[in-house]
Amino acid sequence: MADIDTDILIIGGGVAGSAAAYGLSKEGYKVLLLEKSEKPQDTARGDHIQPAVSEILGKWNILEAFFNNGARKRAGSLWFDEDANFLMDANVSKLEIPEPYFMFMNHEDISNVFVSSAEENKGFSFLCPILSCAHIDTNANESIFEIKLKDGETQTAATKMIIIADGVASNMGRFFEFERSAFRYEKALAVLFSDEYEADEFNNLRTYLTDRGIVTMIPRAKGGCKIGLTIGRDEIKEWKKMTSKEHQNFIGGLVPIYENLKMYSAGIYPPSMIIAENWTKDNIVLMGDACHGLHPGRSQGMNTTIKCIDHLLDLLPPNETFEKKNVIQSLNQYQKLMKSNINELLEANHAMGISMDNFDKKSKVQEIEKFKFLEKNFEEGQSYRMKSAGYGVF
Ligand SMILES: Cc1cc2nc3c(=O)[nH]c(=O)nc-3n(C[C@H](O)[C@H](O)[C@H](O)COP(=O)(O)OP(=O)(O)OC[C@H]3O[C@@H](n4cnc5c(N)ncnc54)[C@H](O)[C@@H]3O)c2cc1C
Repeated sequence: MADIDTDILIIGGGVAGSAAAYGLSKEGYKVLLLEKSEKPQDTARGDHIQPAVSEILGKWNILEAFFNNGARKRAGSLWFDEDANFLMDANVSKLEIPEPYFMFMNHEDISNVFVSSAEENKGFSFLCPILSCAHIDTNANESIFEIKLKDGETQTAATKMIIIADGVASNMGRFFEFERSAFRYEKALAVLFSDEYEADEFNNLRTYLTDRGIVTMIPRAKGGCKIGLTIGRDEIKEWKKMTSKEHQNFIGGLVPIYENLKMYSAGIYPPSMIIAENWTKDNIVLMGDACHGLHPGRSQGMNTTIKCIDHLLDLLPPNETFEKKNVIQSLNQYQKLMKSNINELLEANHAMGISMDNFDKKSKVQEIEKFKFLEKNFEEGQSYRMKSAGYGVF
C-alpha cells in the first residue's frame, strides 16, 4: 500500500505542470503535483498569453482568477522601423473572437495562479520542495514512485497516469527513455528589464526592425518592460560583462528613441528546438518544454502547452473508468491527434528561429515591406492577427 494513492502524478510545477494540475483536478481526478524548487519561476520567461488560450482559460473557469491576481490586457503589437516610423498595428481588439486581447502576467505569477486555484479542488495535493522522485515499479494497474522530501521524510505514491513536465532538460523524460531531437539556434535571446518604461494606454508590445534583428519592448504586468533582442553566441561573454549603462547605449544605438531609457540585464537564453519523437509511452505523457522546447521568439511555448492540456482533458477516460489500461488508450489517441496537429506550428516556429539567426539588412528591408503590406491590406492583416492570436495554427 502506497502512502499516497492518486490518479495522476505530475512531475514539475512550472506552467505546464501547474496548468495540467489545475485542469485535471477541476475535472475531479486525484492529482499529485511535485516540484523540486522552492524558488519562484524565472520571471523573465513567458508572460504573454494569446487570445485563443484566454478562451481556453475562460472555459476552465480560471480566467477571472488571473485578472484578480494582477494579469492585464494588451491590445497587441505595433511594428516600427529602427527610427520608430510606424509600420503596422497588429492589434487583435477588433477580431471577432471571445477574448480579443492578449493577457500578460509575470511568469512566476502564472504558475502560482494555477496552483492556488488547483488547491480549491478536493483531489489536489502539492509536494514542494521535493529532493527526488524515483520510479520504483509499474505493474498492470499503477506506477509506484518514491518521493524524498526536503525535510528528510520519504513517501511512496501509486498512480495510474504520469505527466512529465520537468522542463527542457527533462531528466525524467531521459529516465523513461523518451527520444528527443534537438536543433541549436545560432543566436541567443538577450533579455533586459527597464523599470522606467511607460507603456501606452493599450499596453501594446512594440517591435523595432533594426539591421541586426528585432528589438522588442514588452510591457510587464507590474510596470516597466522587458526588452528582447538577439545576440550572437560569440557575443554572450561580452554581453555578460557589460554594465547597465553599456546595455542602454547598445539599445540606444539600435533604436535611438530609447537612448535615455535605463535598463539592466535579466538573462540570456540560448534557444534550441527540442522535440520528443514520442509524446507518450505506456501511461506516461510528456508536457510543456519537456515535450516541445520551442524558440521563444514567437511566445508559443506556454501557449502551446495550455492548448495541448485542453486536448488531453477531452480525451482522458472519465473518473468512473479512470484505469491504467484506459489511460494508455487515451494517451495513444492524444499522441496521434497532437503530433499531426502541431507540425505546422513547429515548422513555422522553426522557420522563424532560422530567420532570426540569419537576419541582416536585406531581411530588415523585406520585413519592413511585409509589415507595410499587412497594414494596408485588410484581409492579409486580419489573417496575420488571427494567427498571432493563436487561431488557425492548431
Ligand atoms: C525569454 C523567454 C520568453 C518567453 N516568452 C513566452 C511567452 O510570452 N509566451 C509563451 O507561451 N511562452 C514563452 N516562453 C516559453 C515559456 O516560458 C516556456 O515554454 C514555459 O515556461 C515552459 O514551462 P514548463 O513548465 O514546460 O517548463 P519549466 O518552466 O522549465 O518548468 C519545469 C519545472 O519542473 C521542475 N522540475 C524539474 N525536474 C524536476 C523533478 N525531478 N521533480 C520535480 N520538479 C522538477 C523545475 O524546477 C521547474 O519548476 C518564453 C521563454 C523564454 C526563455
